[in-house]
Amino acid sequence: MSENILYSNSNDFENDVLKSHLPVVVYFYSDDCPPCSAFAPIFERSQEKYSDQMKFVKIYRQQNRQLAESLNVKSSPTLLFYRDGKEVCSRLNGYISNPEFKKSIERVIGGFCVRADRKKVHCDVLILGGGAAGLSAAIYTSRAKLYTVVVDEGLTGGQVASTFHVANYPGTNGVVRGIDLMENMRKQAEDFGTTIDDMMEISQADFEGEDKFISTEDTDYYAKAIIIATGATPRKLPAEGEREFRGRGVHYCATCDGAMYQDANVLVIGGGNSATEEAVFLTRYVKHVTIVHHLDHFQATKGAQEEVFKNPNISVMWDCQVKKVIGENFVKGAIIENVKTKETTEIETDALFVYIGMEPKTELFKDKIELNEYGYIITDEDMKTNVPGVFAAGDVRDKNVRQIATATGDGVIASITVEKFISGR
Ligand SMILES: Cc1cc2nc3c(=O)[nH]c(=O)nc-3n(C[C@H](O)[C@H](O)[C@H](O)COP(=O)(O)OP(=O)(O)OC[C@H]3O[C@@H](n4cnc5c(N)ncnc54)[C@H](O)[C@@H]3O)c2cc1C
Repeated sequence: MSENILYSNSNDFENDVLKSHLPVVVYFYSDDCPPCSAFAPIFERSQEKYSDQMKFVKIYRQQNRQLAESLNVKSSPTLLFYRDGKEVCSRLNGYISNPEFKKSIERVIGGFCVRADRKKVHCDVLILGGGAAGLSAAIYTSRAKLYTVVVDEGLTGGQVASTFHVANYPGTNGVVRGIDLMENMRKQAEDFGTTIDDMMEISQADFEGEDKFISTEDTDYYAKAIIIATGATPRKLPAEGEREFRGRGVHYCATCDGAMYQDANVLVIGGGNSATEEAVFLTRYVKHVTIVHHLDHFQATKGAQEEVFKNPNISVMWDCQVKKVIGENFVKGAIIENVKTKETTEIETDALFVYIGMEPKTELFKDKIELNEYGYIITDEDMKTNVPGVFAAGDVRDKNVRQIATATGDGVIASITVEKFISGR
């Protein structure tokens, strides 16, 4: 590790970055972040080369969430460049290459790096979200020779990519890793000509004109048709302390964060398939899992329940819910309430993994298309929304079954409907 890289935080940001007499590059990083691991040696090598002309600062995003949010840093890695206390140049995120990083450094050092001009992209089909639904739609529209761009606010893959294994997606000839399944879908879409713009947060959407419009931090997209496939996100634990300890003991993805808890005692909250499957998965690392469930029975499938009951490292607290998460810097325990007796107990724990359902990612579209009372997008069976030229597919849609196969099915239907819409049939 290079000794000249400065590790900063929310308290020291002003002195370390804004008051620096040298230009500064600030690198927000996280644990369990493959693009961060790939970029770390590039950052170190570049620091060795440019240390007399630029200050290299690293900030651990999970422990400096407020700062990250105030700077609108939503993903890791994100690189920001500063000169004389002002942010300059375009941010870099995702899988950042050495030449790309070097070019930005030299532009900042050379003093001719101002914010880059906005890019304009005109395409036939714009797909928002690169999960199972979005990538399936992209495979079909690209193959139909429609110029297709997928914009994802994170890395593509969606929920499946953070699912350890998938056993029920037809045709996989056994269990597959979610991440592999989604890598194949992405590659298939790209091989047919899809452009993928990942790590791009959408800031604005306008569906009124003939051309549909969205903008991200540095690009304006115009499309003949849009497919919204932004999926769903885990519902947050409704308990005091959740926000404070999110990422520091409160987690929503066992595949992403479980390995941090070797030999620990953890809680899993929920009683459906995700909770029971992820509880079993966590026993690979942790000493003991306690499932906290507000009912006296699981809603998971029989198979998933059996896996829990036969595992000696899992116990269950029935009829219980978490009232409060407690700790100092990291979680140390939780206050659990019995929903029938209202009795509360304080228990020690190292982490909570929460699986209490999902919420649709439709905040951006709420005044633009018709949503149901829970925020899911209403479509007809051809995936049309109430706005011509705007379609929706996958978990974001109002429907009964949310699985990979139904998401890919929706994506395929949406793509064929879009093809007809564009050709005026
Ligand atoms: C823990 C867990 C285990 C599961 N196991 C299984 C299983 O074994 N079998 C099965 O069939 N199903 C399983 N599912 C359900 C399955 O994963 C989903 O039904 C499926 O992934 C839905 O795909 P989607 O493309 O609609 O949405 P998502 O997978 O949610 O993808 C949405 C994509 O949109 C992106 N996005 C979100 N908001 C924006 C925005 N504003 N701008 C741009 N991009 C955005 C996201 O980054 C994401 O990449 C599981 C789900 C979970 C949570």
